Amino acid sequence: MGKYTGSMCRLCRVEGKKLFLKGRRCLSDRCAVEKKNYPPGQKGARINFRKSHYKNQLREKQKVKRFYGVGEKQFRNVFAEAAQKKGITGENLLCTLEKRLDNVIYRLNFAYSRNHARQMIRHGFFAVNGRKVSIPSYIVSMNDEISFREKKLEAENVKAMLEGVKGLVEVPGWLLLDEAAHRAKVNALPARDDISLKEIEERLIVELYSK
Ligand code: SF4
Repeated sequence: MGKYTGSMCRLCRVEGKKLFLKGRRCLSDRCAVEKKNYPPGQKGARINFRKSHYKNQLREKQKVKRFYGVGEKQFRNVFAEAAQKKGITGENLLCTLEKRLDNVIYRLNFAYSRNHARQMIRHGFFAVNGRKVSIPSYIVSMNDEISFREKKLEAENVKAMLEGVKGLVEVPGWLLLDEAAHRAKVNALPARDDISLKEIEERLIVELYSK
């Protein structure tokens, strides 16, 4: 599947849910879901979609994929790994996605959105345990130390960006942030209650992939 280059807000409107893909705008009254909470398109406001069970399963999967910015193939791989682990497959899936480096960077308020975090990671802004990591899908582990690389911090626009993202999202309890040093430690692994995408029925995704 090719990379989606269209409107991010459109994705939220398709799902009928805020997926927080555009930084501060998502928290403002300019959010498209707040203004037009119906599917996009000319007939969006008038269409009364009949929802089948399959459609519910599919939409639940799409919400999670879009929220974390993961392609279909990668999502299937994460699901296959989750199914092999001990425990509940749906929870394993969400917890693995939550541990992705791009999600961690966003939740630490080091980027405006997960998409922005992915760009920064690819450009070598971050290190894990002192070593540069440029793979957004990198999965953090217990006791990992995530930090901004010193030389990237020196740029004026990066300093301004960090001021701009301050306090954007609440830092989860499983990450221990040292804001002044621009570093954090993974002091626990995320549990189901720590998942940033709320009101998701992961069992529907498990059912979809178990057919
Ligand atoms: Fe989604 Fe954010 Fe756009 Fe609102 S502003 S529709 S949450 S991307």
